[in-house]
Amino acid sequence: MSETLFIADVHLDKAWPRIGDWFLDLLATRARDADAVYILGDLFEVWVGDDDDDPFYGQIQDALRALSDDGVPVFIQHGNRDFLLGPAFAERTGTTLLPDSAVIDLYGTPVLLMHGDQLCSDDDEYQRFRVTARDPAWQREVLAKSLEERRQIARYARSMSTQAQREMAGDITDVNPATVAATMLNAGVRHLIHGHTHRPAIHDGAHGERIVIPDWRPEGGGLVSWAPANHGLETWPAR
Ligand code: MN
Repeated sequence: MSETLFIADVHLDKAWPRIGDWFLDLLATRARDADAVYILGDLFEVWVGDDDDDPFYGQIQDALRALSDDGVPVFIQHGNRDFLLGPAFAERTGTTLLPDSAVIDLYGTPVLLMHGDQLCSDDDEYQRFRVTARDPAWQREVLAKSLEERRQIARYARSMSTQAQREMAGDITDVNPATVAATMLNAGVRHLIHGHTHRPAIHDGAHGERIVIPDWRPEGGGLVSWAPANHGLETWPAR
């Protein structure tokens, strides 16, 4: 069966080994038969640089490599947590980093892919942070610091950030409907797949279909499967 898989917001972190195991299981089983796998942001809870030599990240990268070596193309977008994923990561894993907005052809249907944070235009504080975090000069400055220093900054940022606290409380700002409509119109699509908001659903609106990928949490994860004849949300592991 032809199928393309979409996941997002796995938030891999060695503090939650079960989630890591489910992800590795997905790559080793169902993903092997997929036409392609798209990871639309926040694969990692935090990414401080491609030079991070923590074995937890090494294991994840090896598994992505094994999947791509097996002939399954894997595409990755940046999220609001792993925006420092870079070319060394892509080379090591054999994956392709996609731009923040990408229109792909899914069995003849043009579909727009995004992490989804760009659509939450009502969150002024986050959108200001996003401009900084995506600035190449700022990223170069951060990556010039030692690995240990970057790990410390990430821990501090997580403990201090109101965004992180709200995410933990399940209070992520939802997408702005007018921003969604304008974004889909500009891209010339009737289908949008994104993550980020942790509000998995399929919405049918005047501007088309918006599919929100499930986030992964200790109680379970999920995915979007798109086959030529149908598509929908599923839990992972299956239950
Ligand atoms: Mn996110």
